[in-house]
Amino acid sequence: MGQQPYRVGIGYDLHRLEAGRPLLLGGVKVPHARGLAGHSDADVVLHAVADALLGAAALGDIGELFPETDPRWAGADSRGLLAEVYRRVVEAGWVPVNLDIVVHAQSHRLGPHKPDMRATIGELTGLSADRVSVKAKSGEGLGPVGKGEAIACHAVVLLAPAGDSAVLDR
Ligand code: MG
Repeated sequence: MGQQPYRVGIGYDLHRLEAGRPLLLGGVKVPHARGLAGHSDADVVLHAVADALLGAAALGDIGELFPETDPRWAGADSRGLLAEVYRRVVEAGWVPVNLDIVVHAQSHRLGPHKPDMRATIGELTGLSADRVSVKAKSGEGLGPVGKGEAIACHAVVLLAPAGDSAVLDR
């Protein structure tokens, strides 16, 4: 059996909310009293997107590429991490076709920030904003997300071979 032309990948991440940290979601600063805690800048959206890309290309995961034990990634800008992941995916012969993202956050009004998030994520993954979907769900008051203790994110990506003319025609 030959190589199948398309590859799908899923990414998931969750970070704790903590006072005194900026809140970065999809590379965009969202005004809020608390931000996400983590070794890097803890951008849960960009981490989920990076893992979806790595998963689709079977290139490992973000924890393997940028270990939390490595001081190089302390406070790292996740835009740089995602750019490096994208570079590796392209090097492996793939191009993203589209991204679908679900942000799970209880008390954050993300609507006004979605256009910026879509544009920023698109710039980092070689996609126009109309191929990047960002949806938001509340936690219905339940669990760590619903109680406002954490923000989580799911991302799904489709990859096509870099030489696929149907994809290049966009
Ligand atoms: Mg993370």
